[in-house]
Amino acid sequence: MNCPNCGAPLHLTADQESFPCEYCRSVYVPEENEDGVRVLEDRSPLPCPVCAVPLVKAAVADQEVLYCKQCRGLLVSMHIFPGLLDELRARRDGHARVQTPLDRKAFDRHLDCPQCHQGMDTHPYDGPGNVVIDSCSRCDWNWLDSGEMSRIVRAPDHHYAQEDTYGR
Ligand SMILES: [Zn+2]
Ligand SMILES: [Zn+2]
Ligand SMILES: [Zn+2]
Repeated sequence: MNCPNCGAPLHLTADQESFPCEYCRSVYVPEENEDGVRVLEDRSPLPCPVCAVPLVKAAVADQEVLYCKQCRGLLVSMHIFPGLLDELRARRDGHARVQTPLDRKAFDRHLDCPQCHQGMDTHPYDGPGNVVIDSCSRCDWNWLDSGEMSRIVRAPDHHYAQEDTYGR
């Protein structure tokens, strides 16, 4: 990423929201897109497992992830995934009242891990949201297609799910 004002290189990190340029002293603030993603760096060494274009380095909340600008999927390290979800669920405004059913067609697609090039494991995410995710346990990557992260984040808590079942 370069300074939009003077073109000097900027080093963007996930845990910081604004970046002063040490050359021209202007401050660059990357904006969140509609997926809640801030792009930090226009390239990364790994390709998108779906579209094969290079993933970009990005931040969700203050965690570093890889993002595909084309299909808007996210490649998230398994190590940060639970903490990232907790953080996003803590900041969400409102939650879905209705659980979206599991999309069985998602099991028909098979992706190769962008890092080790072996088949990823396509499985239902073991948490709220009824989403099917793809994981590589060798490289500790989870792949989330566009919208899957927000489905997990906005899914009803167990508490609300029960209220819905029994009515109010
Ligand atoms: Zn500058
Ligand atoms: Zn893609
Ligand atoms: Zn892998």
